[in-house]
Amino acid sequence: MTAEVIDGKAFAASLRERVAAAVPAFADKVGRKPGLAAVLVGEDPASRVYVRAKGKATLAAGMASFERRLPADARQAELVALVRDLNGDEGVDGILVQLPLPPHMDAGAVIEAIDPAKDVDGFHPVNAGRLASGTAALVPCTPLGCLMLLKDRLGDLSGLEAVVVGRSNIVGKPMAQLLLGEDCTVTIAHSRTSDLAAVVRRGDIVVAAVGRPAMVRGDWLKPGATVIDVGINRVDGRLVGDVDFASASQVAGAITPVPGGVGPMTIAVLLRNTLVAAHARLGLDPPAGL
Ligand code: NAP
Repeated sequence: MTAEVIDGKAFAASLRERVAAAVPAFADKVGRKPGLAAVLVGEDPASRVYVRAKGKATLAAGMASFERRLPADARQAELVALVRDLNGDEGVDGILVQLPLPPHMDAGAVIEAIDPAKDVDGFHPVNAGRLASGTAALVPCTPLGCLMLLKDRLGDLSGLEAVVVGRSNIVGKPMAQLLLGEDCTVTIAHSRTSDLAAVVRRGDIVVAAVGRPAMVRGDWLKPGATVIDVGINRVDGRLVGDVDFASASQVAGAITPVPGGVGPMTIAVLLRNTLVAAHARLGLDPPAGL
Protein backbone atom coordinates (compact mmCIF):
# COMPACT_ATOMS: atom_id res chain seq x y z
CA MET A 1 0.00 0.00 0.00
CA THR A 2 1.21 3.53 -0.70
CA ALA A 3 -0.29 6.08 1.63
CA GLU A 4 -2.10 9.21 0.56
CA VAL A 5 0.03 12.20 1.53
CA ILE A 6 -2.00 14.69 3.55
CA ASP A 7 -1.30 18.17 2.23
CA GLY A 8 -1.16 20.33 5.35
CA LYS A 9 0.26 23.24 3.41
CA ALA A 10 -2.80 23.40 1.14
CA PHE A 11 -5.23 22.93 4.06
CA ALA A 12 -3.45 25.66 6.03
CA ALA A 13 -3.60 28.03 3.05
CA SER A 14 -7.35 27.47 2.73
CA LEU A 15 -7.86 28.05 6.47
CA ARG A 16 -5.87 31.29 6.27
CA GLU A 17 -8.04 32.38 3.35
CA ARG A 18 -11.21 31.61 5.31
CA VAL A 19 -9.90 33.61 8.27
CA ALA A 20 -8.94 36.54 6.04
CA ALA A 21 -12.37 36.44 4.38
CA ALA A 22 -14.09 36.78 7.78
CA VAL A 23 -11.96 39.71 9.02
CA PRO A 24 -13.71 42.56 7.14
CA ALA A 25 -17.13 41.70 8.63
CA PHE A 26 -15.63 41.89 12.15
CA ALA A 27 -13.87 45.17 11.35
CA ASP A 28 -17.09 46.67 9.92
CA LYS A 29 -19.10 45.66 12.97
CA VAL A 30 -16.55 46.58 15.65
CA GLY A 31 -14.73 49.48 14.02
CA ARG A 32 -11.27 47.95 14.31
CA LYS A 33 -9.34 44.93 13.09
CA PRO A 34 -8.82 41.84 15.27
CA GLY A 35 -5.38 42.17 16.90
CA LEU A 36 -2.69 39.67 17.86
CA ALA A 37 0.23 40.61 20.13
CA ALA A 38 3.40 38.51 20.13
CA VAL A 39 5.86 38.88 22.99
CA LEU A 40 9.49 37.95 22.42
CA VAL A 41 12.01 37.81 25.25
CA GLY A 42 15.68 37.66 24.26
CA GLU A 43 17.33 37.00 20.95
CA ASP A 44 16.89 33.26 20.37
CA PRO A 45 17.20 33.00 16.56
CA ALA A 46 14.48 30.35 16.10
CA SER A 47 12.05 32.33 18.31
CA ARG A 48 12.75 35.49 16.32
CA VAL A 49 11.97 33.64 13.08
CA TYR A 50 8.71 32.25 14.54
CA VAL A 51 7.57 35.65 15.86
CA ARG A 52 8.37 37.34 12.57
CA ALA A 53 6.46 34.64 10.63
CA LYS A 54 3.45 34.98 12.95
CA GLY A 55 3.43 38.77 12.56
CA LYS A 56 3.62 38.51 8.77
CA ALA A 57 0.80 35.97 8.64
CA THR A 58 -1.33 38.15 10.94
CA LEU A 59 -0.94 41.15 8.65
CA ALA A 60 -1.56 38.99 5.55
CA ALA A 61 -4.90 37.92 7.08
CA GLY A 62 -5.87 41.59 7.40
CA MET A 63 -5.49 41.66 11.18
CA ALA A 64 -3.47 44.02 13.36
CA SER A 65 -0.12 42.70 14.57
CA PHE A 66 1.70 43.99 17.64
CA GLU A 67 5.18 42.89 18.59
CA ARG A 68 6.60 43.52 22.06
CA ARG A 69 10.20 42.73 22.91
CA LEU A 70 12.14 42.46 26.13
CA PRO A 71 15.86 41.80 26.56
CA ALA A 72 17.03 38.33 27.62
CA ASP A 73 17.94 39.64 31.09
CA ALA A 74 14.52 41.25 31.72
CA ARG A 75 12.98 40.43 35.08
CA GLN A 76 9.96 38.15 35.18
CA ALA A 77 8.00 40.96 36.86
CA GLU A 78 8.61 43.16 33.80
CA LEU A 79 7.27 40.45 31.50
CA VAL A 80 4.21 39.92 33.68
CA ALA A 81 3.60 43.69 33.73
CA LEU A 82 3.81 43.73 29.91
CA VAL A 83 1.33 40.85 29.66
CA ARG A 84 -1.07 42.67 32.03
CA ASP A 85 -0.76 45.77 29.91
CA LEU A 86 -1.78 43.73 26.84
CA ASN A 87 -4.63 42.15 28.83
CA GLY A 88 -6.05 45.64 29.32
CA ASP A 89 -5.51 46.79 25.72
CA GLU A 90 -8.88 46.79 23.93
CA GLY A 91 -7.20 46.51 20.50
CA VAL A 92 -5.52 43.23 21.44
CA ASP A 93 -7.65 40.09 21.11
CA GLY A 94 -4.88 37.51 21.30
CA ILE A 95 -1.62 37.37 23.26
CA LEU A 96 1.14 34.89 22.69
CA VAL A 97 4.35 34.73 24.65
CA GLN A 98 6.93 33.01 22.50
CA LEU A 99 8.48 29.98 24.25
CA PRO A 100 10.99 29.01 25.43
CA LEU A 101 11.59 31.83 27.90
CA PRO A 102 15.06 32.47 29.36
CA PRO A 103 15.90 29.95 32.11
CA HIS A 104 15.48 32.45 34.98
CA MET A 105 11.79 32.86 34.11
CA ASP A 106 8.88 30.62 35.14
CA ALA A 107 6.91 30.05 31.93
CA GLY A 108 3.93 28.65 33.83
CA ALA A 109 3.58 31.79 35.95
CA VAL A 110 3.85 34.02 32.87
CA ILE A 111 1.20 32.02 31.00
CA GLU A 112 -1.10 32.28 34.04
CA ALA A 113 -0.81 36.08 33.80
CA ILE A 114 -2.44 36.04 30.34
CA ASP A 115 -6.18 36.77 30.30
CA PRO A 116 -7.67 33.33 29.39
CA ALA A 117 -10.00 35.11 26.92
CA LYS A 118 -6.90 36.30 25.01
CA ASP A 119 -4.88 33.09 25.42
CA VAL A 120 -4.75 32.17 21.71
CA ASP A 121 -2.05 29.53 22.35
CA GLY A 122 -4.51 27.76 24.65
CA PHE A 123 -1.85 27.07 27.29
CA HIS A 124 -3.52 28.81 30.26
CA PRO A 125 -4.71 26.31 32.90
CA VAL A 126 -8.25 27.70 32.56
CA ASN A 127 -8.31 26.79 28.87
CA ALA A 128 -6.60 23.43 29.51
CA GLY A 129 -9.25 22.71 32.15
CA ARG A 130 -12.07 23.74 29.86
CA LEU A 131 -10.74 21.48 27.12
CA ALA A 132 -10.51 18.59 29.60
CA SER A 133 -14.06 19.19 30.82
CA GLY A 134 -15.43 19.47 27.29
CA THR A 135 -16.53 23.12 27.43
CA ALA A 136 -15.67 25.84 24.92
CA ALA A 137 -12.00 26.73 25.12
CA LEU A 138 -9.16 28.25 23.20
CA VAL A 139 -7.30 25.10 22.16
CA PRO A 140 -3.52 24.83 21.50
CA CYS A 141 -2.84 25.49 17.82
CA THR A 142 -0.78 22.45 16.81
CA PRO A 143 -3.12 19.74 18.12
CA LEU A 144 -6.19 21.60 16.85
CA GLY A 145 -4.52 21.74 13.43
CA CYS A 146 -3.89 17.98 13.62
CA LEU A 147 -7.56 17.38 14.46
CA MET A 148 -8.66 19.49 11.49
CA LEU A 149 -6.48 17.39 9.15
CA LEU A 150 -7.85 14.17 10.64
CA LYS A 151 -11.48 15.24 10.31
CA ASP A 152 -10.89 16.46 6.78
CA ARG A 153 -9.59 13.03 5.79
CA LEU A 154 -11.68 10.70 7.96
CA GLY A 155 -14.89 12.64 8.67
CA ASP A 156 -16.48 11.15 11.80
CA LEU A 157 -13.77 9.86 14.16
CA SER A 158 -16.20 8.20 16.58
CA GLY A 159 -15.13 4.74 17.76
CA LEU A 160 -11.66 4.85 16.20
CA GLU A 161 -8.60 3.76 18.19
CA ALA A 162 -6.25 6.73 18.51
CA VAL A 163 -2.70 6.48 19.83
CA VAL A 164 -0.92 9.70 20.78
CA VAL A 165 2.82 9.28 21.34
CA GLY A 166 3.97 12.13 23.60
CA ARG A 167 2.28 13.77 26.59
CA SER A 168 3.49 17.37 26.57
CA ASN A 169 1.08 20.12 27.65
CA ILE A 170 1.59 21.78 24.26
CA VAL A 171 0.85 18.85 21.95
CA GLY A 172 0.29 15.35 23.38
CA LYS A 173 -2.18 16.03 26.21
CA PRO A 174 -4.45 18.48 24.35
CA MET A 175 -4.32 16.19 21.29
CA ALA A 176 -5.56 13.30 23.40
CA GLN A 177 -8.34 15.46 24.88
CA LEU A 178 -9.46 16.57 21.43
CA LEU A 179 -9.59 12.98 20.17
CA LEU A 180 -11.51 11.92 23.27
CA GLY A 181 -13.94 14.74 22.55
CA GLU A 182 -14.45 13.18 19.11
CA ASP A 183 -15.33 9.85 20.77
CA CYS A 184 -12.11 8.07 19.87
CA THR A 185 -10.70 5.44 22.21
CA VAL A 186 -7.48 7.16 23.17
CA THR A 187 -4.15 5.78 24.36
CA ILE A 188 -1.38 8.17 25.39
CA ALA A 189 2.11 6.69 25.09
CA HIS A 190 5.32 8.23 26.45
CA SER A 191 8.92 7.46 27.30
CA ARG A 192 7.96 4.90 29.95
CA THR A 193 5.47 3.01 27.77
CA SER A 194 6.45 -0.65 27.45
CA ASP A 195 6.30 -2.27 24.01
CA LEU A 196 5.59 1.00 22.25
CA ALA A 197 5.41 -0.73 18.85
CA ALA A 198 2.53 -2.95 20.03
CA VAL A 199 0.69 0.08 21.46
CA VAL A 200 1.13 2.10 18.26
CA ARG A 201 -0.09 -0.88 16.21
CA ARG A 202 -3.52 -0.55 17.86
CA GLY A 203 -4.06 2.86 16.30
CA ASP A 204 -6.43 3.59 13.45
CA ILE A 205 -5.03 7.07 14.12
CA VAL A 206 -1.44 7.62 15.24
CA VAL A 207 -0.19 11.05 16.29
CA ALA A 208 3.55 11.22 16.90
CA ALA A 209 4.73 14.19 19.00
CA VAL A 210 7.98 12.98 20.48
CA GLY A 211 10.94 14.94 19.15
CA ARG A 212 12.91 11.85 18.03
CA PRO A 213 13.73 11.63 14.34
CA ALA A 214 12.04 8.79 12.43
CA MET A 215 11.22 6.86 15.61
CA VAL A 216 7.84 5.45 14.51
CA ARG A 217 8.45 2.90 11.76
CA GLY A 218 6.19 1.30 9.19
CA ASP A 219 6.26 -2.09 10.90
CA TRP A 220 4.77 -0.46 14.06
CA LEU A 221 1.62 0.58 12.19
CA LYS A 222 -1.76 -1.02 11.63
CA PRO A 223 -2.20 -1.26 7.83
CA GLY A 224 -4.32 1.65 6.61
CA ALA A 225 -3.75 3.81 9.72
CA THR A 226 -3.88 7.59 9.42
CA VAL A 227 -0.57 8.96 10.67
CA ILE A 228 -0.02 12.54 11.83
CA ASP A 229 3.62 13.45 12.31
CA VAL A 230 4.06 16.49 14.57
CA GLY A 231 7.82 16.10 14.96
CA ILE A 232 10.22 18.73 13.71
CA ASN A 233 13.80 17.53 14.02
CA ARG A 234 16.84 18.94 12.27
CA VAL A 235 19.14 16.17 11.01
CA ASP A 236 22.16 17.11 8.87
CA GLY A 237 20.48 20.41 7.98
CA ARG A 238 17.25 18.67 6.89
CA LEU A 239 13.85 18.67 8.62
CA VAL A 240 12.78 15.19 9.67
CA GLY A 241 9.61 14.12 11.46
CA ASP A 242 9.12 11.65 14.31
CA VAL A 243 7.83 9.07 11.80
CA ASP A 244 10.03 7.20 9.35
CA PHE A 245 8.18 8.42 6.26
CA ALA A 246 9.75 5.90 3.81
CA SER A 247 8.58 2.79 5.67
CA ALA A 248 5.42 4.27 7.21
CA SER A 249 4.04 5.42 3.86
CA GLN A 250 4.16 1.78 2.68
CA VAL A 251 1.77 0.70 5.46
CA ALA A 252 -0.36 3.74 6.40
CA GLY A 253 -3.52 4.75 4.56
CA ALA A 254 -2.59 8.42 4.86
CA ILE A 255 0.31 10.32 6.36
CA THR A 256 1.46 13.90 6.85
CA PRO A 257 4.87 14.76 5.41
CA VAL A 258 7.58 16.79 7.17
CA PRO A 259 7.83 19.54 6.12
CA GLY A 260 4.47 20.47 4.62
CA GLY A 261 2.16 18.56 6.97
CA VAL A 262 1.37 19.74 10.50
CA GLY A 263 3.89 22.61 10.51
CA PRO A 264 1.92 25.07 8.35
CA MET A 265 -1.25 24.36 10.33
CA THR A 266 0.08 25.87 13.54
CA ILE A 267 0.17 29.49 12.34
CA ALA A 268 -3.09 29.09 10.42
CA VAL A 269 -4.84 27.91 13.60
CA LEU A 270 -3.23 30.75 15.58
CA LEU A 271 -4.95 33.21 13.22
CA ARG A 272 -8.19 31.26 13.52
CA ASN A 273 -7.94 31.31 17.33
CA THR A 274 -7.32 35.08 17.27
CA LEU A 275 -10.44 35.66 15.21
CA VAL A 276 -12.48 33.34 17.42
CA ALA A 277 -11.16 35.09 20.57
CA ALA A 278 -11.98 38.50 19.06
CA HIS A 279 -15.60 37.47 18.52
CA ALA A 280 -15.99 35.70 21.87
CA ARG A 281 -14.64 38.67 23.86
CA LEU A 282 -17.35 40.87 22.37
CA GLY A 283 -20.10 38.29 22.72
CA LEU A 284 -20.32 37.82 18.94
CA ASP A 285 -20.93 34.44 17.28
CA PRO A 286 -17.76 33.04 15.73
CA PRO A 287 -17.68 33.07 11.93
CA ALA A 288 -19.00 29.83 10.40
CA GLY A 289 -16.65 27.31 8.83
CA LEU A 290 -13.62 27.92 11.03
P1 NAP B 1 8.32 17.47 24.50
O1 NAP B 1 7.72 18.46 25.44
O2 NAP B 1 9.79 17.21 24.52
O3 NAP B 1 7.56 16.08 24.74
C1 NAP B 1 7.99 14.90 24.10
C2 NAP B 1 7.15 13.75 24.55
O4 NAP B 1 7.64 12.57 23.88
C3 NAP B 1 7.22 13.48 26.06
O5 NAP B 1 5.94 13.21 26.55
C4 NAP B 1 8.11 12.25 26.16
O6 NAP B 1 7.75 11.37 27.19
C5 NAP B 1 7.84 11.55 24.84
N1 NAP B 1 8.98 10.71 24.47
C6 NAP B 1 10.30 11.06 24.43
N2 NAP B 1 11.04 10.01 24.05
C7 NAP B 1 10.20 8.98 23.86
C8 NAP B 1 10.36 7.62 23.48
N3 NAP B 1 11.56 7.11 23.22
N4 NAP B 1 9.27 6.86 23.37
C9 NAP B 1 8.05 7.34 23.65
N5 NAP B 1 7.82 8.64 24.00
C10 NAP B 1 8.88 9.42 24.12
O7 NAP B 1 7.97 17.81 22.99
P2 NAP B 1 6.70 18.58 22.32
O8 NAP B 1 6.79 20.02 22.64
O9 NAP B 1 5.44 17.83 22.61
O10 NAP B 1 7.09 18.39 20.79
C11 NAP B 1 7.17 17.11 20.19
C12 NAP B 1 7.68 17.27 18.76
O11 NAP B 1 6.77 18.06 18.04
C13 NAP B 1 9.03 18.01 18.63
O12 NAP B 1 9.74 17.45 17.53
C14 NAP B 1 8.63 19.43 18.34
O13 NAP B 1 9.64 20.12 17.62
C15 NAP B 1 7.42 19.19 17.49
N6 NAP B 1 6.45 20.33 17.48
C16 NAP B 1 6.00 20.71 16.28
C17 NAP B 1 5.06 21.73 16.20
C18 NAP B 1 4.54 22.13 14.85
O14 NAP B 1 4.12 23.25 14.67
N7 NAP B 1 4.51 21.23 13.88
C19 NAP B 1 4.61 22.36 17.36
C20 NAP B 1 5.06 21.90 18.60
C21 NAP B 1 5.99 20.87 18.64
P3 NAP B 1 7.90 11.73 28.76
O15 NAP B 1 6.75 12.64 29.06
O16 NAP B 1 7.81 10.41 29.43
O17 NAP B 1 9.26 12.39 28.91
